[in-house]
This record gives sequence, structure tokens and C-alpha cells, in this order.
Amino acid sequence: MYTHDVIIVGSGLAGLRAAQELSGHLDVAVLTKVYPSRSHSGAAQGGVAAALANVDKDDSPEAHTYDTVKGSDYLGDQDAIEIMCSDAPAAIHEIEKLGCPFSRTPENKIDQRAFGGHSFKRSCFAADRTGHALLHTLFEQLMKNSGKIQVYSEWYMLRLIMEDGVARGVVAMDIKTGRLEVFHAKTVLFGTGGYGRAYKITSNAYANTGDGITAAYRAGVPLMDMEFVQFHPTGLYSHGILLSEAARGEGGYLLNGLGERFMAKYAPTKLELGPRDIVSRAAQTEIDEGRGAGPNKDYVLLDLRHLGEEKILERLPQIYHIAKDFLGSDALNTPVPIQPTAHYSMGGIPADNDCQVYIDEKGNHVRGFFAAGECSCISVHGANRLGTNSLLEALVFGRRAGKKMLEVTRDTDWSPINEKRELDTVRRELDQLLHTQAKEDLNTIRDEMKETMTYKAGVYRDAENLGLALKKIKELQDRFTRVRVDDKKKNFNTNLLEARELSHMLEYSELIVAGAIARTESRGAHARKDYPNRDDANWLKHTMAFKTKDGFELRYKPVKMTRFKPEERKY
Ligand SMILES: Cc1cc2nc3c(=O)[nH]c(=O)nc-3n(C[C@H](O)[C@H](O)[C@H](O)COP(=O)(O)OP(=O)(O)OC[C@H]3O[C@@H](n4cnc5c(N)ncnc54)[C@H](O)[C@@H]3O)c2cc1C
Repeated sequence: MYTHDVIIVGSGLAGLRAAQELSGHLDVAVLTKVYPSRSHSGAAQGGVAAALANVDKDDSPEAHTYDTVKGSDYLGDQDAIEIMCSDAPAAIHEIEKLGCPFSRTPENKIDQRAFGGHSFKRSCFAADRTGHALLHTLFEQLMKNSGKIQVYSEWYMLRLIMEDGVARGVVAMDIKTGRLEVFHAKTVLFGTGGYGRAYKITSNAYANTGDGITAAYRAGVPLMDMEFVQFHPTGLYSHGILLSEAARGEGGYLLNGLGERFMAKYAPTKLELGPRDIVSRAAQTEIDEGRGAGPNKDYVLLDLRHLGEEKILERLPQIYHIAKDFLGSDALNTPVPIQPTAHYSMGGIPADNDCQVYIDEKGNHVRGFFAAGECSCISVHGANRLGTNSLLEALVFGRRAGKKMLEVTRDTDWSPINEKRELDTVRRELDQLLHTQAKEDLNTIRDEMKETMTYKAGVYRDAENLGLALKKIKELQDRFTRVRVDDKKKNFNTNLLEARELSHMLEYSELIVAGAIARTESRGAHARKDYPNRDDANWLKHTMAFKTKDGFELRYKPVKMTRFKPEERKY
């Protein structure tokens, strides 16, 4: 058994920012299934929001707050949004001082560019590799503090240990050897990232299989707003790899197969810089109504040609190379084929403004358990996240989590842990996968799940398709009990871990679909063709999914409103 005051699971921006705060004060361990600098945060391209007003002088945290509330389709909790937007400038200056190489204005200030749904140029960026720059800045701090923070790299968290409403640690596997260990802690933070891998067309890293949210759910924590999955309009056609919104922020156009800038019909004032839910639906509608491009009319186009070679290569180099390497498409001379891609998980582990996790819809907490970053649902993004607000969330709430954990951990005594029972539980679960003589093929089940989620619970939804999706997911869950894991070895058994990840995806996909079936309205990223309007009278509330003996139960929780009354969302 390993013992540390604090266990942080996840070494993305949220986990590392929290670790930074705790370093030197407590005995802290960071546990991560991928090498820290490979966390999905490093893939972020476009930028991180803060109302610095370096370029647009009239910007302010108040304007940022309003844009975010409106962008969330009024499902975001306004107190949390206000905290995030007010803390944003300090969070950016802090990480700049740690050495993050932001792109600069001619006066040597941090440069800022436009992003969808933001009414001012607010996105701070490092070319189109912002996440890479931010993550490496925090990674350097982790290295600097290496005597003070213990890193367990390529360790896989399999179970949250929770007893009598208190989090006491985790069970994890050393991927290299297959050894299972209990990690005993006074407080635990999950910064385990998003759940987009359940979709076929997705921008998410292979690691984004919702392990953290599933472990929390299995331990008895409800999951909030799972039906809200963000689709990003500019995924690379057929791959789903992201082409950042920065491409439109820098002036890129979207064209349909007829060469029309179709956004004029859907967001007449903001055009390509409408929020993602609206732009994704517009692109999908063009495709569905036969105005797509290409031989099968199944994509639309991102046109950057008019920006010119210098701007493309200086500001959007990664986008240029991704299009070239994966589709052979030369963005300097031709429009790039794109389609909406599953991108961001608005739902997750419910937590308060200090990242303390809720155990129910009434506001009671799990003692000692925290969640920050994309796996959490605080909820600053509500039904639709604005681009660049997620890196910001991870920085702001990672820091807040660290501060609160310092206080809570100091006030907490050790709770006992039954090491043998915890290990036996996980061992039994893994043995079941390893020692069945079963015949079901892992990849087939996963492919069928991904197809189902993309085509039946995707950009547009309706009762019929969601019903089919639920039936299919249940069938796949049943087939999964007979899934075959060919690799029986202990060391680097990625086959076994993939099976485990599939079990997570099948478990939470059911909640995405169930939440979407229940929510008979359209709000933000959740667009029901059979209920096209937002219904504030009945649905201005958060979904909370609880695990029960034989399935799940949905309950609801009011949205926190402070200053802004719901209005019609026009752009
Ligand atoms: C392609 C792409 C581009 C994006 N661009 C932007 C952008 O420009 N601006 C913006 O604001 N947002 C952007 N986002 C969203 C943003 O990057 C993420 O929401 C954010 O970085 C998440 O940070 P995180 O710390 O919560 O999690 P992550 O960075 O995803 O890290 C998760 C961590 O959890 C660990 N982990 C997970 N499961 C386990 C387990 N079972 N055991 C052990 N460890 C585990 C992983 O190893 C990893 O270290 C983008 C996202 C994508 C996919």
C-alpha cells in the first residue's frame, strides 16, 4: 500500500495546477495513465479566454461572464461562471510568469484573438498550440518540484475507495507490471478529463474514456448533465481530428458544396463565429439537406485560402499540417473537408465552486473528494461550452481545488482502509475479463457503440433514434459480459485495459442517451428534432444520474441564477 496526504489522479492542466498549489505543503502524489505531457490538454489548439482587454479595450470580466452564461444556454451556474471569468486575468498572468510563451502584440502584450460566442477578442494563444505551451509550463514546474511531488506515471486508476460518504484513496495498476496497489490518502482529486471516445467521429485522445467519472459513479457519486456532449463543427472529415476554431477566429470561412457561406442563414450577425452548438447544427443541416461537398455530399468545407500563406503558417501551422498529413489537403490552395466531431464533455462529476464533489442533488458532499477540469461539472459550461473556456476552467478550478484541499487535508484524520477487500474487488473484476472463455470481439462491440452514439445520439436527436440507441447500448452491455481478452499476460496488458475502458464507455453512454431521452427540449448542444425549442418552464434544471441496484435513476437540481435572466439566444 502507498500512502500520501493527497492523491491527484490526472496530470492534465487541472491536475497539475492543483499539484502546483499543494507542492511543498503536503505529501502529494500525481497518478496518471499516460505520461504527464501526453495528457489531452496538450492537444488544445486555439487558446485560453481571459478579459485582458489587450486588443479590444472594452472587454471586461462582466462581459465574459455574460457571454458564458448566454453561451451555456442558461444552464450554467452563474455564481461559478462569475468566479471563473473574474479569476481569468490573474490565472493567465500567473502562468505567463511561469514561462508560458504566449503569442504577443506589437507592443509586447499577450495577443488575443476572436472565438465563437465571445463578443470581444479574448482568446490568449500560443500560435495554435496553446494547450501544449500551457501543459509544458506546468510540467516544468512538476519537474522542478520533483522532490516534493511523487509522480506515478503510467499507473491506471481502477477504483475510487469510498466508505461512509468519505473518499479514502484509489486502487491502481502499474501498467508496466500489472501489479495492483492501494493508494491511501486523506483527500483525492480527479482531473481525469473528458468522455468523447464513446463517439466514432471525435477529436478526443484515446485516453478520454471517462475512467474517472465511471469510477466515481460506481462508488455512488451521481453524474450531472451527461446528455450535454459538445460537437465541434470543424473536425477533419472522416477522422474527427480537430481543426481549431482559431481558424475561424483568424477569419476562415465555412462553405457548403454549392460554395455558399452558409452561416449567413443560421447566425447572421456572428456568421462563422457563432457558438459551437449553432455552427455544428448548421454544418450538419447543410449535409443532411443535400448541400454537402464531395462525391457523397457528406462534408462541408473550411476555407482559409484568403488568409494568405504567411498568416496561415504563422498563426495556424498545426491546422495546416493536420489537413495535409491526414487528408493530403493543402489549406493554402484548397478548402479543407470538415464535419462535426464529438469534442467536449459538458457533463461529469458534480462539484461546488471549490471542486468539492456532491453526493446528491441536495448539496451534500463526499468528504475528501474533489474534481476539477473536464471530468467535473461545476457547471461553468451549462449546455454548451464556449471555445477557450475549458483551458481556463482547468487553470482556475485546478488552483481553487488545490487551495481548498490544503485546508481540508490539514483538518482531516486518516480513515481506515480495508486494503485486502479493495484489492480483491478489483482483482475479481479483472479476472472476470481475463479468464472467460468468451467469444465476443472487443473491437466489434466498441465500433458498434461508437457508430450508435455518433449516428443516433449525435448533433441531432429524436425519440425514435435515442430509443434505438438505448436498446443497442443495453445489447452491447450484455454482449460485453462475454467479451474476449486475448492477452493474458501481466505486463503492459493494453488489451485488458481497453476492455476495461469499453466497460466505462458502455456504462456512461447509457446515461448520455437516457438523459437525452428524458430531456424533451432543445438546449445548447442537446438538439431534439421532435422538441426543437428550449423549455425553461420544465427544463431549466440539471440532470443528476444515480446508480441503483438494477440500473440508474434520474433526479434533477435547480440552476443557480444570479444576475442574468434567460433570454432568447440570438447571434
Ligand atoms: C483537440 C482538442 C483541442 C482543444 N482545444 C481547446 C482550446 O483551444 N481551448 C480550450 O479552452 N479547450 C480546448 N480543448 C478542451 C481542453 O483541452 C480540455 O477540456 C482540457 O485540457 C482538459 O484538461 P483536464 O486537466 O481536465 O484533463 P486532460 O488534459 O484530458 O487530462 C486527463 C488526465 O487524466 C489521466 N487519467 C484519465 N483516466 C485515468 C486513469 N484511469 N488512471 C490514471 N490516470 C487517468 C490522464 O492520464 C490525463 O493525465 C480542446 C480539446 C481537444 C480534444
